[in-house]
Amino acid sequence: MGDNSDGDGSTTGKDRRIVVIGAGPGGISSAHYLREAGYTNITVLERADEVGGTWQRNRYPGLACDVWSHVYSFTWNPNPAWTRSYAAQPEILAYIRKTVTDFDLWPFIRLDTGVASARWDDDTSTWVVTTDDGEEIVADAVISGQGMFGELKYPDIEGRDSFEGVAMHTGAWDESADLTGKRVAVIGSAASAVQSIPEIAKLASQLHVFQRSANWVLPKEDVEHTAEQLEEFTDPEALMAYREGIMAFVGPSTPFSNPEINGAAEWIAACAIEVVEDEDTRRKLTPDTPWGCMRPLFSNDYYPTFNRSNVELVTDPIEHITPTGIVTADGTEREVDVIVFATGYVVDKFASRIPITGRDGLSLTEAWSDGAKAYLGVTTSGFPNLFMLYGPNTNQGSLIPMIEYQCQFAVRMLQEMDAAGIDWIDVKPEVMDAYNEELRAAVDSVEVWQAGCSHYYLSDSGINVTQYPFSMFFFRDELAAITFEQFEVGTR
Ligand SMILES: Cc1cc2nc3c(=O)[nH]c(=O)nc-3n(C[C@H](O)[C@H](O)[C@H](O)COP(=O)(O)OP(=O)(O)OC[C@H]3O[C@@H](n4cnc5c(N)ncnc54)[C@H](O)[C@@H]3O)c2cc1C
Repeated sequence: MGDNSDGDGSTTGKDRRIVVIGAGPGGISSAHYLREAGYTNITVLERADEVGGTWQRNRYPGLACDVWSHVYSFTWNPNPAWTRSYAAQPEILAYIRKTVTDFDLWPFIRLDTGVASARWDDDTSTWVVTTDDGEEIVADAVISGQGMFGELKYPDIEGRDSFEGVAMHTGAWDESADLTGKRVAVIGSAASAVQSIPEIAKLASQLHVFQRSANWVLPKEDVEHTAEQLEEFTDPEALMAYREGIMAFVGPSTPFSNPEINGAAEWIAACAIEVVEDEDTRRKLTPDTPWGCMRPLFSNDYYPTFNRSNVELVTDPIEHITPTGIVTADGTEREVDVIVFATGYVVDKFASRIPITGRDGLSLTEAWSDGAKAYLGVTTSGFPNLFMLYGPNTNQGSLIPMIEYQCQFAVRMLQEMDAAGIDWIDVKPEVMDAYNEELRAAVDSVEVWQAGCSHYYLSDSGINVTQYPFSMFFFRDELAAITFEQFEVGTR
């Protein structure tokens, strides 16, 4: 076994056939790290007609990064040109595309090629990846970079399909729809609502915001980089020092565990609500759950938007949707031309969004019937040589570096398999279970997550399957410490 660069026809070593699902930040980073490590047989299959993942699919007005752009960048391609501290979606997408071009990654990527399923073949110890067109691709390893936010979530409201105006989800924004002078309803008050509402309000004649539960919204120091800063960032050392300065704050911080920090954040958000002039609206915008219970939100424009005469906050529950508008429990119908569903994504499926079958015909959906689980989010027992990116309980901090740690882990494992002459690895179930027991205890110890919020962190079984309760650096170090000890290993 080992490297077969002498052309003996087997597919180990640097000739290993590696299929990557998705060309979002995760798939792109995988291609980069694999090539850096000398792998040549890399195929990135992307369902969309463009790279960029989240940042090409989501185009609603106001969409921007909510972590500093200088740390929401590939560590292997820092960007001296970020125009502001929290870049907007078009700039992030342009950066991702330019990265693919500058690093000559296009040859690995097949656009318009969705993966329909993947099946582990016990006899040949290979994956058979089937595309939406029925093409079968044999792979020695699969990296799933499907992302967490690929499936839109709609509310179950009676009459939703009867609406005769324009209805769209923030995650599938219709760029041809002109909201100027229109009567618009936004359903939802979480991340995409907070970003899009201030922009929609500028165009609409009337905007009704339908809020089920209030969220704390923190201000962010979102400033344009000055000409001097941009000049300074062109010096690689200065750029690195700037990034490291931010990372020294973001990397080791374990969010939501420090009551003093939680309390301070809540106080800052409560002060921000004070800008709202109407007392009743202020009261309705003030959450009755602690900061951190729901996903933290950031905006400088959200609260001031409720001082506009064309914006109404509606907290009466929605009863049903009619062909012309929205009726609330008190019987009031608000007639609108456009309904925007800012209602989030189905986030608890991870790699199992497509049928994946592992050893002995075990399906990932079956394996995860009590909720998705993995070992450090990246590998799950019974599915050899399947590396998952942004998998269960990996949501923390800035996701590009978090996902890079996972790519680096996958590539290191492949290299160590080459060195040891191993064809497949499969995390031991007892190792994965012990890890998950510790993880659950840590999640349960984060007090604000137990405050009864109905947030997206939870799977149907009520388990928090998305959040990582420790710091980014702890995650990086835990991944770096994994050896074959934790795996069953095999050869063909
Ligand atoms: C609105 C929004 C804002 C966000 N803002 C931030 C932020 O500010 N900071 C932050 O850290 N994170 C943010 N995130 C999280 C963001 O998803 C991650 O930062 C990052 O994009 C994850 O990269 P990824 O490659 O894992 O997944 P994605 O970016 O989701 O990319 C997945 C790719 O896989 C493709 N794909 C999926 N299934 C298949 C299939 N079966 N076959 C072929 N291709 C497939 C998709 O088409 C997509 O291109 C945000 C997410 C959303 C939805």
